[in-house]
Amino acid sequence: MASGPSYFDDSRNKPEVIDPPPKEDVLDIRENVNENTQSVLKPNPAVTSGVRELLECPVCLNAMYPPISQCSNGHTLCSGCKPRMHNRCPTCRHELGNIRCLALEKVAASLELPCKYQSFGCIGIHPYYSKLKHESQCAFRPYNCPYAGSDCSAVGDIPFLVSHLKDDHKVDMHNGSTFNHRYVKSNPHEVENATWMLTVFSCFGQYFCLHFEAFQLGMAPAYIAFLRFMGDDNEAKNYSYSLEVGGNGRKVVWQGVPRSIRDSHRKVRDSFDGLIVQRNMALFFSGGDRKELKLRVTGRIWKEQ
Ligand SMILES: [Zn+2]
Ligand SMILES: [Zn+2]
Ligand SMILES: [Zn+2]
Ligand SMILES: [Zn+2]
Repeated sequence: MASGPSYFDDSRNKPEVIDPPPKEDVLDIRENVNENTQSVLKPNPAVTSGVRELLECPVCLNAMYPPISQCSNGHTLCSGCKPRMHNRCPTCRHELGNIRCLALEKVAASLELPCKYQSFGCIGIHPYYSKLKHESQCAFRPYNCPYAGSDCSAVGDIPFLVSHLKDDHKVDMHNGSTFNHRYVKSNPHEVENATWMLTVFSCFGQYFCLHFEAFQLGMAPAYIAFLRFMGDDNEAKNYSYSLEVGGNGRKVVWQGVPRSIRDSHRKVRDSFDGLIVQRNMALFFSGGDRKELKLRVTGRIWKEQ
């Protein structure tokens, strides 16, 4: 602390500070001094956070957007909650009426706020009314866990999700851009929608999820295999992949573009964006007495030039 800036010592000697302040207070004093010396163009954080509080709907606690309503006593309310209030102000119980709070709407328009994914690395500062739109598309917004077998609520960036898949879901991890997998299921006639398998591939400095699962294609049971890219869609488009499955002298080949894990596994499956094999064909490929599913799926991932 002794090596701190000189104004720190000055503020500490101000007469109103009687006791030596505890550590936290010392930091506060420094911040205040900083504010005074900063350029006037910087928004004052204290004022901004005060206005942000004013812009919080007292009922749903969400940020309010136009039209913002107010009662005759000046209490504000968001447009989503207003119809549910039976014309009573939730704060003072007076009649609500139809008064719009233009002043607050205008103050909000003048606000610039950091993206809510700041802690994930986004440095964007956005006008109040376009912040939500940015956040819905922010490249730093965390991803949902790509594991399909359960309602996993884990969210995070890609490195976090890779370790999460490995440690918490015990997913198979493979290095390299080619693969040769055998999916074996001893009683394929019991296979319903809930059967799935996930393997994570690491190549080109990226991670890919290979999904394999049984689903109902119309009335017919079928299997689908597809690849998802652990990253955003614009980057996923730089890659292609192929999958092949066969046996008994026949084979089915699929070439596709991995889908971003921003698209849910279910969405990809339901758009049939992958290698689809009907169960009859899959059992034929498996050979044997149709009692066991033994599908060999080979594949390759490559980067488009
Ligand atoms: Zn509300
Ligand atoms: Zn009121
Ligand atoms: Zn952002
Ligand atoms: Zn998970």
